[in-house]
Amino acid sequence: MTENIDWNKRISPVVHAIPPSGIRRFFDIAAEMEDVISLGVGEPDFITPWAIRESCVYGLEQGYTSYTANRGLLELREEICALQKRNFNIDYEPKTDVLVTVGVSEALDIAMRTILAPGDEILIPEPCYVSYKACAALAGGVPVPVPAKIENNFSITPEDLEAHVTDKTKALLIGYPNNPTGAVLSREQLIAISRFAVKHDLIVISDEIYGDLTYGGERHICFAGLPEMKDRTILLNGFSKAYAMTGWRIGYALSNPDIIAAMTKIHQYTMLCAPITAQIAAVEALRNGEKYMKKMVSEYDKRRRLIYDGLTNAGLKCFEPKGAFYIFPDITSTGLTSEEFAEKLLMKEHVALVPGNAFGECGEGYVRCSYATSVAKISEAIARIEHFVQHCR
Ligand code: PLP
Repeated sequence: MTENIDWNKRISPVVHAIPPSGIRRFFDIAAEMEDVISLGVGEPDFITPWAIRESCVYGLEQGYTSYTANRGLLELREEICALQKRNFNIDYEPKTDVLVTVGVSEALDIAMRTILAPGDEILIPEPCYVSYKACAALAGGVPVPVPAKIENNFSITPEDLEAHVTDKTKALLIGYPNNPTGAVLSREQLIAISRFAVKHDLIVISDEIYGDLTYGGERHICFAGLPEMKDRTILLNGFSKAYAMTGWRIGYALSNPDIIAAMTKIHQYTMLCAPITAQIAAVEALRNGEKYMKKMVSEYDKRRRLIYDGLTNAGLKCFEPKGAFYIFPDITSTGLTSEEFAEKLLMKEHVALVPGNAFGECGEGYVRCSYATSVAKISEAIARIEHFVQHCR
């Protein structure tokens, strides 16, 4: 006799208060339609390079099917630390400073749960990845959005941050190269943010999952590599985007031994460890996968230029993305809201993208297009968007 029970009343109010992801709704509609070109998904269209897949197959043949250490295979932690040294000259200790997680998603979740006590505030520049605010709220913290302005190329300044600091502010979360804008931050901009973090004694969570995907001569700067930032930063990265390994679910966190030990406590009770097969593949990605990654990055760069020129010529004002694989055109010239634009474009032209307000209120007036799809599909999508925009005017 369960018919009369209102199950919603049994669900925690914290979960009730979190809105569903604004990305999914349009995918659900698109999934029912034919001939849809999707610029909606933030997922590489490449299959994981064969050498990486093969290492996993070989691992299985050898019988690697067990749990690993909670912190992850030592071999993988060593490769992760070696990568930080090679790329950014930062010294991390494999035994104490790194935790292998189930994607950056898990690392984000446990980083928030590790540092936020109920009521603690965390500054989150917007527009941003849809999970940031939800993870902060689920951890019992209070996410405080800080709008990043197009006038500042979607970067965040200490002045923007100062305007939102209170005596409850405990942390700052930055995510550059940025999803959804494609913005990257210069060393000077990052140093200004680091001084702000020191001034207010904040922990900084730096989500650098798109760090390998930069274009046009930009080189990613690791936040933890800035003066005084290594111990204060929880650096997050993973394999999903750069190595086309979304389904393998491997990410990692790097920080000081105390933070990593505390994160490991949550991880060991909730996750135990990341899958061994995927960890074996991740070792191969770091040892021998860079050449494949570089090839994919150069392909994304071609697509980036194609979509930037195409949407600009179609009459949409575009901020030129320098990282990740998204572009965030301004659609206000059409007279439509972000949601109207996305919905009408899907219905009339069968192109799926994501309304900008899914990434925070200040994303209103924009839409996010992912260019992690083929040149042929991007070209066809641009033609359809141009047709749509002309008919809006
Ligand atoms: N961080 C950002 C900025 C993302 O865009 C995503 C996925 O889209 C994630 C984290 C989650 O990545 P993972 O697949 O490693 O969980």
